[in-house]
Amino acid sequence: MKYANEISRRRTFAIISHPDAGKTTLTEKFLLFGGAIQTAGAVKSNKIKKHATSDFMEIERQRGISVATSVMTFEYRDTLINLLDTPGHKDFAEDTYRTLTAVDSVVLVVDAVKGVEEQTERLMEVCRMRDTPVIIFVNKMDRDGKNPFDLLDELEAKLRISVQPLSWPVNMGRDFKGVYNLFNKSVLLFNPNQKASDEDLIMLETIADKRIDALFNESDAAQLRSDVELLEGVYDPFGEGPYRKGEMAPVFFGSALNNFGVKDLLDTFVEIAPRPQARPTSVRTVEPGEDRFSGFVFKIHANLDPRHRDRIAFLRICSGRFERNTFYHHVRLDKDVRFSNPYSFLAREKNVVDDAYPGDVIGLFDTGNFKIGDTLTEGEDFYFTGIPSFSPELFKELINKDPMKTKQLEKGIRQLTDEGVAQLFTQHGGNRKIIGCVGDLQFEVIQYRLLHEYGAACVFNTLPFYKACWITGDAQSIDTFTRFKQANVVEDKDGHLVYLAQSEWFLNTERQNHPEITFHFTSEIH
Ligand code: GDP
Repeated sequence: MKYANEISRRRTFAIISHPDAGKTTLTEKFLLFGGAIQTAGAVKSNKIKKHATSDFMEIERQRGISVATSVMTFEYRDTLINLLDTPGHKDFAEDTYRTLTAVDSVVLVVDAVKGVEEQTERLMEVCRMRDTPVIIFVNKMDRDGKNPFDLLDELEAKLRISVQPLSWPVNMGRDFKGVYNLFNKSVLLFNPNQKASDEDLIMLETIADKRIDALFNESDAAQLRSDVELLEGVYDPFGEGPYRKGEMAPVFFGSALNNFGVKDLLDTFVEIAPRPQARPTSVRTVEPGEDRFSGFVFKIHANLDPRHRDRIAFLRICSGRFERNTFYHHVRLDKDVRFSNPYSFLAREKNVVDDAYPGDVIGLFDTGNFKIGDTLTEGEDFYFTGIPSFSPELFKELINKDPMKTKQLEKGIRQLTDEGVAQLFTQHGGNRKIIGCVGDLQFEVIQYRLLHEYGAACVFNTLPFYKACWITGDAQSIDTFTRFKQANVVEDKDGHLVYLAQSEWFLNTERQNHPEITFHFTSEIH
């Protein structure tokens, strides 16, 4: 394997959580350990505080200036870590789902007080679709949260994955004393508001070690011993296998705000997290160690300055070596393209890179050649699969308010939906345009951007649909179905037929009446 060393030292992952669980805080602590930032507070939250377009636009504008926030690359203990940022707001969940297609593993942050929240469950569903390995960090142990045994049960039940604690808390809230590391049998003592140092780490032979009695009071020591005995009775010694297959999630307890338990997590992460993995394509599985380069675009970031309509496409490298100023094959457009200024994001700075390896994410300047899911290769014709569109949850018809600006509107909506801001459906055999989104905020953003970037004014007309299902089946059945259900059948941007259901009841009825047709809730983008 030509680039074995480069591949084996890379880890590409995302931190995900329900808003407010502590994703930004944990990200910041990781970057501090990696030396990528020097001070706390350097990581800007991408949180939309008010449900307002202006809030979103401001965040995006700041990001446009410093796109580095989308990818953070840092080194820790000789490992090159690519940390991909995901939006927390649920209206932009699809952006998060797509980012998850570009990582090899995930750290999921759960709030010890709130437990598993709605968005956490959905994110886990997406991880499950791809068997992405997940490590869980139970955060905010400095607050009075749920009992850790109950939390384990809740994680298993709601996230539908088996879990295994690798660390265990001694109390919580005001009485939080520290964590016992079940993996390497050590105790880390907690000092609130004080950075944990290596002296706070005490290595033990066994849980019977007398030093435990000196470190904790009698009842805490007894509780810890009985907890650990119980846990050791329930769980087999930790093995990487089930974690790597996405069947079991190791669990850590700590407090991101106090930088407590974070080093434990990061140390274990670099040890057990998978290196860049093989990926399925339309033709075959592509191994990272292959000599020839390949990669795909999973995110497009627009420059929100209307005078500069350029965009940055984020490319995940899947195999071989990417080189600057070299021609690569753009599979969908069937043309060769090269890049003179590809970016990397080391130490949170945008740097022009000469080359990049599997696991890396680079930013490519784009003037409209890319859409999400596009594949680049060294000549071979395939595209990466598993980058689906999900069914939107809100549907609105796009109404042009200015007939003189029809062209601008068409172009604008095409480009915005290429970026993945929303999904565009066109009436089958007609020209009505229907936009599908996950949240209302997305519609506001589209309206704003169409006006400010393309000079096209539009309004939206709410439609009574609840789900979009891509339909497949034999040609004749599909033909008959679309003729009878004309009002509900639309085409996505790639010409695939989609049935818009008014309600679950309608959908179930159609399913029963048409067993010859399959209704899919996600589509591959191609
Ligand atoms: P995100 O929305 O998931 O990115 O969450 P943030 O990192 O912005 O954290 C949300 C809030 O929780 C902030 O006010 C943090 O200061 C706070 N927070 C984060 N970690 C901890 C922790 O370990 N303990 C406590 N008490 N608060 C925390």
